[in-house]
Amino acid sequence: MIKFYKIKDKKRGVNMCVFCNIIEGNIPSAKIYEDDDVLAILDISQATKGHTLVMPKKHYENILQIPEDDYIKVMSKVKKIAQVILKVFDAKGLNILNNCNEVSGQTVMHFHVHIIPRYNTDDIQIKFTDHSSQYNLEDIKNQILKQM
Ligand code: AMP
Ligand code: ZN
Repeated sequence: MIKFYKIKDKKRGVNMCVFCNIIEGNIPSAKIYEDDDVLAILDISQATKGHTLVMPKKHYENILQIPEDDYIKVMSKVKKIAQVILKVFDAKGLNILNNCNEVSGQTVMHFHVHIIPRYNTDDIQIKFTDHSSQYNLEDIKNQILKQM
């Protein structure tokens, strides 16, 4: 069972998020990488063997909030850690996943990237349904290009 902790931070007078508590050492975790800016821990759910979360030590809610330099630091470690995990467990591939906001499935509001090693026998299913008949690619492209 996943435990969610809410601990009051006396300094800031706010409830810190679970990952901030892990970073501060208030909650135990299985750390597999740490430097001044980035922490990687095993996901408590282990959707597959070696399922890992990589996060910045500073609290940013999501990918939209994190500044580019911190984002790059996290993502460069994602690549390195993914390579190690793949090798250690002889995984056949992996999914690199980030959920942004509740609608996408984000449950911990501290930016993090999932590394999910994939095995021939695992039970993960990521399916994209084809809705192409409902949309016009040219219209969508033009809408986006107007804002780029
Ligand atoms: P997301 O749904 O993308 O926000 O992912 C949050 C992830 O954090 C889930 O996969 C949880 O299993 C994981 N999680 C929640 N609490 C902990 C914890 N204390 N230690 C490790 N992983 C956790
Ligand atoms: Zn946090």
